[in-house]
Amino acid sequence: MVTPIRRRVRALARRVRTARALARAFKSKRHPILAQIVPIRRCNLSCTYCNEFDRVSAPVPTERMLDRIDRLAALGTTMIDFSGGEPMLHPDLDALIGRVRRHGILAGLLTNGYLLNPDRIERLNGAGLDRLQISVDNVTPDDVSKKSLRVLDKKLQLLAEHAEFDVNINTVLGADVRHPADALLIARRALALGFGTSVGLIHDGSGRLLPFDAVRAGVFREIAALNRTFYSHAHDTVYQQNLIAGQPNDWRCRAGARYLYVCEDGLVHLCSQQRGYPGVPLDRYGAEHLEREYSSPKPCAPFCTVSCVHRVSLLDDLREQPLDTLERLVEAHRRRGQAPPVTVRLLTWLFVTSSHRERFRRMALRAFRLG
Ligand code: SF4
Ligand code: SF4
Repeated sequence: MVTPIRRRVRALARRVRTARALARAFKSKRHPILAQIVPIRRCNLSCTYCNEFDRVSAPVPTERMLDRIDRLAALGTTMIDFSGGEPMLHPDLDALIGRVRRHGILAGLLTNGYLLNPDRIERLNGAGLDRLQISVDNVTPDDVSKKSLRVLDKKLQLLAEHAEFDVNINTVLGADVRHPADALLIARRALALGFGTSVGLIHDGSGRLLPFDAVRAGVFREIAALNRTFYSHAHDTVYQQNLIAGQPNDWRCRAGARYLYVCEDGLVHLCSQQRGYPGVPLDRYGAEHLEREYSSPKPCAPFCTVSCVHRVSLLDDLREQPLDTLERLVEAHRRRGQAPPVTVRLLTWLFVTSSHRERFRRMALRAFRLG
């Protein structure tokens, strides 16, 4: 079992590395912030809403995966998440995570959690994993999904005992979700175990999110209120509240530039929902592609539910229009009757409104060895 002190030390080191990655993202728009990479398309489950898995694919050869990680590092990527299929089915996942960390990149894992056991968690600790996310879809398994709290709760307890990395439990809500109250129960369980929690919105087969009824909207609001992280909370309020009301979001998607999705064939796609474009091999993806996708509008943006791309793109809004964007986020927080956290007010003063803001910016860049 991991000691609380060891866990705290690793968490602190991770916060510093995350802050450094964010500082780099603010300093330059010419590199990806987050890449999701698929080491295997196969999955050990078959959720009926999922279009991201098959039952037959072999793992991508390890050498090929290591080359792809090296290429993402050469592009300046600051965070790499392994997704799938089920990435834990890759036999050399630990070596892949180790390679990410040797480049100084933050390493994440999106998993269904079924293959976790104490030994596997210790190996992920040893490899240097920074964060792990499990989506828990319901409380009791049904014909749609077996990613269920009843099945996974033991795995979550193991994570609480052994993991040295951050854990986030993602719940889901959508017009087709049969038991919306499950999401609230799952979110509360995640917090009780000391994990983070988020909520994903499930769209229908056409990619469109149907407006929520009053029950689902109420559950969403309760879960959002549990989330104490300002950035996530503000994001949920600004973007997801619009979507669940059936309203579009007015935002600039930076997929293909600040966010890359690299499939098992080594091709770069905008995201998991827009596979096929640009479809350029990663080893030929370069500055001109990053530049083009940074500023090209995406027609799917208004009703997009891909939260990680919202959050990454929001960083660029903060860099390019800091006052307007901060005002939007803080206002979203206020609408909930909550004062923005002290840290946010302090950062706003330091880097946006203070007459010494240029000096503070230079000092921050020097502190992160980016100046
Ligand atoms: S566990 Fe994940 S990848 Fe596998 S079928 Fe379900 S949603 Fe898809
Ligand atoms: S708007 Fe959403 S769905 Fe469209 S490319 Fe961007 S992330 Fe993907």
